[in-house]
Amino acid sequence: MDILLVGAGLSGAVIGRALAEAGHHCTVIDSRSHLGGNCHMVRDEETGVNVHVYGPHIFHTDHAEVWGYVNRFETFQPYKNRVKTTAQGQVFSLPINLHTINQFYGKTMRPDEARAFIESQADTSITDPQTFEEQALRFVGPDLYEAFFKGYTEKQWGCSPTELPASILKRLPVRFNYDDNYFFHRFQGMPERGYTAMIADILDHPGIDLHLETPFTPEMAGRYGHVFWSGPLDGFFGYELGRLGYRTLDFERFTATGDWQGCAVMNYGDRDVPYTRITEHKHFSPWESHEGSVLYREYSRACGPEDIPYYPIRLVEEKALLADYVARAEREEGVTFVGRLGTYRYLDMDVTIRESLDTAAAFLGRDANQPMP
Ligand code: UDP
Repeated sequence: MDILLVGAGLSGAVIGRALAEAGHHCTVIDSRSHLGGNCHMVRDEETGVNVHVYGPHIFHTDHAEVWGYVNRFETFQPYKNRVKTTAQGQVFSLPINLHTINQFYGKTMRPDEARAFIESQADTSITDPQTFEEQALRFVGPDLYEAFFKGYTEKQWGCSPTELPASILKRLPVRFNYDDNYFFHRFQGMPERGYTAMIADILDHPGIDLHLETPFTPEMAGRYGHVFWSGPLDGFFGYELGRLGYRTLDFERFTATGDWQGCAVMNYGDRDVPYTRITEHKHFSPWESHEGSVLYREYSRACGPEDIPYYPIRLVEEKALLADYVARAEREEGVTFVGRLGTYRYLDMDVTIRESLDTAAAFLGRDANQPMP
């Protein structure tokens, strides 16, 4: 069958590869001039550093099959994401761990003492936290919430944490030991050549034709037996019911020599610092050596029609609109909606790959739980 995949990011590449390997002919199009979607990386001309153009992406997963899949196309260098945050005039370790707690309160507590202490700070009257703020107050109490989450989240999401779902904060652990690994997954690493090279290799199959700078037009759909759509869900329907809200990011690039901040990601918890974080990209590839350094200050704002969508907002309003679009998507014959934009969800890369492989297997009529190709 001739299949059209709209979007040359992770979803389009992984689905296209699986279908091509099964003998289908796949055309992958992308309106941008590069493949890789928001995982795209490019070498900074001035410093030679491999830059995460659309913000930091660290690969981590608990799925041995997904880890096996990415390692089929790319060498992953060992990497542990260790994030710091500057808040209230000090630098702390994230995610909140025993070091953060002891430093913040000027104490020398052991794990059990810290656990009991934090529980004494927590608002235990909240039994079933629904909002981001309730989740924070229930699990870390008001002081740590104010220092590390409230201001950052207001900047990141442009609304009060009382309006956001608890699920956003559930992405971050709280640890009562000195483990400062941001992720708790079994497998973690960084692609040696970068995600763009990895995704280019996933797409490198005789059954796949890739066309960049090629926007989708509705007439195209008629020429294919099936369409996989990884663009914005509402965009497929011409935004007829209204626009699903996204946050977009602006990056302010600056350069330095040597090591400017000493780590890859420094968050800024204070509300009066306008950016959310600064990324020093060279620290994401410690196996490389560069004299120069390139950094991005990251600012979050509401996504306009011409901007690149990053984070789906999913507030109450969006959820109602989303339900309407999902109903329309379900009625759409011959189109499967995939990925972060196509399903309007905050997806990590490993989940995107897992779902893409399952989507392809389901399309091919195979049992999605079978070992992957
Ligand atoms: N967050 C925060 N302070 C931080 C880091 C994260 O309040 O220093 C909140 C913020 O609302 C963010 C969410 O936790 O959107 C999830 O954080 P994560 O690091 O997973 O965000 P990502 O790297 O995907 O932007």
